[in-house]
Amino acid sequence: MSGNKNWGKRPWTVEFRATPRPLPAAMDFAVVGGGFTGLAAAAWLKRLAPEKSVALFEAGQFGAGSSGYTGGVALAESAAGELPGLGDVLGRYQKILRELEVDGEVSLPGAYELGRSAPLANAPIRWKDSGDLCAVKEVPGGTINPGKVLSGLARAAERAGVMLFEDCGVEEAVFAGQVELRTKNSALQAGKVLFATNAFALEMAGLRERAGSAFTLAVATQPLTDAQLREIGLAERKPFYTVDLPYLWGRLLAGNQVIFGSGLVFLQDWRELGTLDIEHGEAAELFEQLERRVHGLHPALKDVEITHRWGGPICMTWEWKPVFERHPESENAIVLGAYSGHGVAQSVYLGCWAAEAILGRKALPNWK
Ligand SMILES: Cc1cc2nc3c(=O)[nH]c(=O)nc-3n(C[C@H](O)[C@H](O)[C@H](O)COP(=O)(O)OP(=O)(O)OC[C@H]3O[C@@H](n4cnc5c(N)ncnc54)[C@H](O)[C@@H]3O)c2cc1C
Repeated sequence: MSGNKNWGKRPWTVEFRATPRPLPAAMDFAVVGGGFTGLAAAAWLKRLAPEKSVALFEAGQFGAGSSGYTGGVALAESAAGELPGLGDVLGRYQKILRELEVDGEVSLPGAYELGRSAPLANAPIRWKDSGDLCAVKEVPGGTINPGKVLSGLARAAERAGVMLFEDCGVEEAVFAGQVELRTKNSALQAGKVLFATNAFALEMAGLRERAGSAFTLAVATQPLTDAQLREIGLAERKPFYTVDLPYLWGRLLAGNQVIFGSGLVFLQDWRELGTLDIEHGEAAELFEQLERRVHGLHPALKDVEITHRWGGPICMTWEWKPVFERHPESENAIVLGAYSGHGVAQSVYLGCWAAEAILGRKALPNWK
């Protein structure tokens, strides 16, 4: 997964590294993948069952997948809209972070849906982008600092006593009662396993036929003045995303940089993520298009400098619904991920739900 990839520079950092330690030969519960989902699940598991051994294996560094390269817009709904029994995602998200003592700079003032017809009366956002792009609806939502949420979740997991391993990819899983996880040099026995590998390892997670991986892009501008923010309609600091095409989403950062994102590089195989370089090929072309769009949205954006360009994987199912179910090969394994671009809040919320399901305290949903 490391390869010679170049996913660009993000405007935040993940300030946590796992302390190296020997691998355990066996554990009660294993989590594979150290993004929002895996870290939240591991921390929650150990918090609910401190007497059980919990280990988390991350192939790269925490946040090496979507979570570290995300946009950080927190939304209540799934990419497929309402899901039966989903519950209050944003309310639970805040509560979980509070209970785990994670300061993720969560701000939930609402979010704007943008469209090219039927603007809201007094719509604050009025831009030019393949027609007149305006705020058409306000929905629950807001923003987080992804670096802080990742570091905070990792610290919470460590505090609770989770054995954390970075640069420790699981190369194979063998399902026979217990689950055997094979790393480069070891075979480890786990009573139960959560696969939180999202856009990677689709075969191991049983997702090859269910989901596909793509690479999506974001840019951040130089800090804007308050006057510029007022002019472009972002003074309320509400994130936004389009409900029609061409797609565009964005948000403000604490220092008044604005992030804009759009574009998908479709991949034949998730392994292409390991060599994807944003300075070449389709990704480079899509960055040029995105920057042209940003500069053309509003006269106040015409000359703003782009200071950060980055991208990361998203995992999408054909119906846009997340996968949250038993592994097809084992009752002792759960697969959670593929949020189709809506995973910031759901990953943490459903990660904790997965922990409760592993402990037999909560049933899995039926979203198949
Ligand atoms: C540019 C961009 C913008 C986005 N914007 C938003 C947004 O604004 N709002 C929103 O809701 N969603 C957004 N998303 C999606 C959101 O970031 C993801 O849904 C979410 O981060 C998924 O978290 P995760 O933990 O499930 O997956 P990931 O963060 O991808 O974690 C999976 C982890 O598993 C590890 N791994 C993989 N294979 C193995 C293995 N074999 N062994 C061990 N570890 C392994 C990976 O290294 C990775 O760290 C965006 C995504 C991108 C890329």
